[in-house]
Amino acid sequence: MQEHIYVSGPSITQKEIDYVTDAVTNAWYGNANVFNKRFEDAFAAYHGVKFAVALPSCTAAIHLALLALNIHEGDEVIVPELTWIASSAPISYVGATPIFADVDTKTWCLSAESFEKCITPRTKAVITVDLYGNVPDMDAIRTIANQHSIAIIEDAAEAVGASYKGHKAGSLGEVGVFSFHGSKTLTTGEGGMLITNNDTLYERVLFYRDHGRRPGDKLFWNHEVAYKYKMSSMQAALGLAQLERIDELVERKRTIFANYEEQLSGIAGITLNYEAPDTTNVYWMVTAIVDSKFGFDKETLGAALAKRDIDTRPFFYPLSAIPAYADTPQAQGAKDRNPVSYSISPYGINLPCGMDMTEEKIAYVCDALKECLLVSHKV
Ligand SMILES: *Cc1c(COP(=O)(O)O)cnc(C)c1O
Repeated sequence: MQEHIYVSGPSITQKEIDYVTDAVTNAWYGNANVFNKRFEDAFAAYHGVKFAVALPSCTAAIHLALLALNIHEGDEVIVPELTWIASSAPISYVGATPIFADVDTKTWCLSAESFEKCITPRTKAVITVDLYGNVPDMDAIRTIANQHSIAIIEDAAEAVGASYKGHKAGSLGEVGVFSFHGSKTLTTGEGGMLITNNDTLYERVLFYRDHGRRPGDKLFWNHEVAYKYKMSSMQAALGLAQLERIDELVERKRTIFANYEEQLSGIAGITLNYEAPDTTNVYWMVTAIVDSKFGFDKETLGAALAKRDIDTRPFFYPLSAIPAYADTPQAQGAKDRNPVSYSISPYGINLPCGMDMTEEKIAYVCDALKECLLVSHKV
């Protein structure tokens, strides 16, 4: 019998175990912050930026980015329709309004054209999302954002190791944010990071993540009611070990995608993740969009694969369609404004692409997928 195939999961080696053991044993008293500092410094260096702040999650990182940019009630923040709700939820935490923009047909990331159409005098920021390890057309987006003095927060939660025109994903806006959730390419169990080159934003992030204290100020002297967003030493040690293996982790993801591509790209009606010539996609989630002629949507296809012990995930639903937002004023008419998101989403499925995927497992998944699409449902 075929063993169960999971959709995602990390690669943990003796190095990670050693670093975490070191942290839990030694990172106390005078060494309490050693691993956090090493992880932050190495992460900033890897991305070619001045500052990195380790945090408990990417959600917290986006919240802090919005606070640091002074975004508040009455402001609008543009976010692509197709992403995890963590990209947009923090917009509500600060009292601002998320505005849903369409994605590009090829990259599945924010469309520069749709972004421009969503801009109003209230627009203060845009959260670009590096969906499934790909990067949108950032030059076009940056040009528009600069014309309107709109700050870019780059949600690179799914794209650590990706790059665009020689720059690492996460370093393409004013602020970049990452997730180290257990499903992500680089994991700390739960965790996140914020990176920036901007001194003022960095100082404001440190202030808001530490209960409104100014770094170096006297103890227990809080200037504002703020937040407590910190990463533990044990998580930082795990993150450091993973970061030291980043090239290997990225290579693994790209190899998994290449294996899928070899077996599926020849099939008419299946579209896989796209990689633009000047982009390195890290394929966090190998994703297939299947033609509606096969007679499957993402849910029925997911159920058919589940019967064969294969875990998958549906492509994200458009944010304007999910109950959390469907009744909000800004979601009305979104289906007509954002046709690409609404046409891709129903037929997209994330295929198993954890670090434990072997060529044999990938072959099994591809055979099962072909059997579902081509044999069960003759076209
Ligand atoms: C995983 C993810 C997040 C949230 O990360 P957490 O660390 O779970 O808060 C945000 N945005 C995107 C695009 C993600 O995939």
